This record gives sequence, structure tokens and C-alpha cells, in this order.
Amino acid sequence: MASRTCLLFLLVAFLAGALAGDVIEVNRSQNQREFDYFALSLQWPGTYCRATRHCCSKNACCRGSDSPTQFTIHGLWPDYNDGSWPSCCYRSDFNEKEISTLKDGLDKYWPSLSCGSPSNCHGGKGSFWGHEWEKHGTCSSPVFRDEYNYFLATLNLYLKYNLTDVLYKAGYVASNSEKYPLGGIVTAIQNAFHINPEVQCKRDAIDEIRICFYKDFKPRDCVGSKDLTSRKSCPKYVSLPEYTPLDGEAMVLKMPTDREAL
Ligand code: AMP
Repeated sequence: MASRTCLLFLLVAFLAGALAGDVIEVNRSQNQREFDYFALSLQWPGTYCRATRHCCSKNACCRGSDSPTQFTIHGLWPDYNDGSWPSCCYRSDFNEKEISTLKDGLDKYWPSLSCGSPSNCHGGKGSFWGHEWEKHGTCSSPVFRDEYNYFLATLNLYLKYNLTDVLYKAGYVASNSEKYPLGGIVTAIQNAFHINPEVQCKRDAIDEIRICFYKDFKPRDCVGSKDLTSRKSCPKYVSLPEYTPLDGEAMVLKMPTDREAL
């Protein structure tokens, strides 16, 4: 009798849990309406990498002379026109196998620039790609409904809109001594892509530049990009720091195992 009651209790508990899970899932998708546009967020590795305190194999700042010297991808973010954005839209655990054929491109253009493990949407920690897929990629539906197409399209956009090249051709190159007018950098991007980008700085160093797109991938203005005074995080003159990777010996001394780095 006691074991029957126990079984019944377990069954009720299981059903209640399953139903509660469904409700949370439904609420999530109801609360988060379809996004309005995409922001392709690009990071300047010179700014990100100079904060490197330790190395590990997954950190591209630690690749010595192969460390990135061009803007790298932070993510392709579905955003709303009011300045907010949806996140973690449905449960789709990141599976690196699905993007194995893109790995070379992702390692080169969308590398992790840290030894840390960003949080996923469900209380755990994972890879940088996993974080971007679960937090942002799952909200890119109905444009993308799977990892492979999300990562492939992001790589293609990055290669088509070559920000490093645009700035290079306008004379804005990595330097630890030059300061450049923010207005000049924005104008170079406007002339090349015919849109207003969003620019973010860490002190006077460019940290991220965002290029925005309609859902059909035609370029459009980013929200909050209209005038220079709204770019609160950047001063009038900004830098594009050069990153000098740690030399081989220092790297070996500072390189903990991946496990120690977590
Ligand atoms: P997001 O939520 O897309 O803004 O990403 C922020 C999270 O990703 C934070 O945990 C950051 O520390 C981490 N992050 C941002 N850029 C990188 C990068 N290039 N490599 C590794 N982690 C990163």
C-alpha cells in the first residue's frame, strides 16, 4: 500500500513538473515577440585582448603571432526597434557537431577571446559559441531555425561587410600612439555601407562596432546611432589599440590548463 501511494505521488510530481515546464516555455515565447532587426556586433581584439590576464588553448588572444588583428565577431543579435532585445527564446542546447564544417571559419573570425565559460540559458556554463546561439540565435526565428544556418549566415555577413578593410582604406589602422576622430570613423562606415553604425568604447579605445540589417540582410541604421552625442561610451577621439601578444616564453609560463583557467 505504502509503495502504491509512493508511486502515485511520484507520478503526480512528474506530471506537475512536466506541465510546469510547458507553461514556462509557452510564457517565454509569448512574452518575446518576433525581433525587428539584426545587429552584427564586431569586437576589436586589440581592446579585448589587452585585458588578458591568463592564457588557455581556447583563448585566441593567446595564439601569439596568429592572434587576431582584425575585427572579430561577437554575435549576430536579433534586436527590437525600442532598444531592447529578446533572449533565450526556446530551449535548443548548443551542439558543436552541427557546425563542424564551419569550424575553421569560426575559429578564425568568431574566436573566443577569453578563457572564461559564459553562462548558457539554463543555469549552466558553456562555450562562447554556445552562449551566442542559446541567448541570441534562438531568438532569430523565423529567419533562422537552426544553429548551422545562424552561424553560416553570420560568417557570410562578416565577410561581405568587411569593417576592418573599410577602416584600413580610410587610414584607420591599429596603433598604440594615434588617436582618431570618432566622427571620421563613423563617416567611413556610412560611406561604405550607407548606414549609421553603433560604436562602443572602453575608455578611449574602440571596443565594439555594430552594423545593423533588416531581416532580409539589407543594411539599416542601428537603433541609438543617429547622432554622435548619443554614443555616450566614446570620447571624440578614439584609439584602435595594437595588441602585442605575450612572447612564447611568457606565454608558456602564464598558460594554465583549460581547467585551471575556469
Ligand atoms: P552577450 O551576452 O552576447 O553580450 O555576451 C556576453 C558574454 O560573452 C559575457 O560573458 C562576456 O564575457 C562573453 N564574451 C564576450 N565576447 C567574448 C569573446 N570574444 N570570447 C569569449 N567570451 C566573450
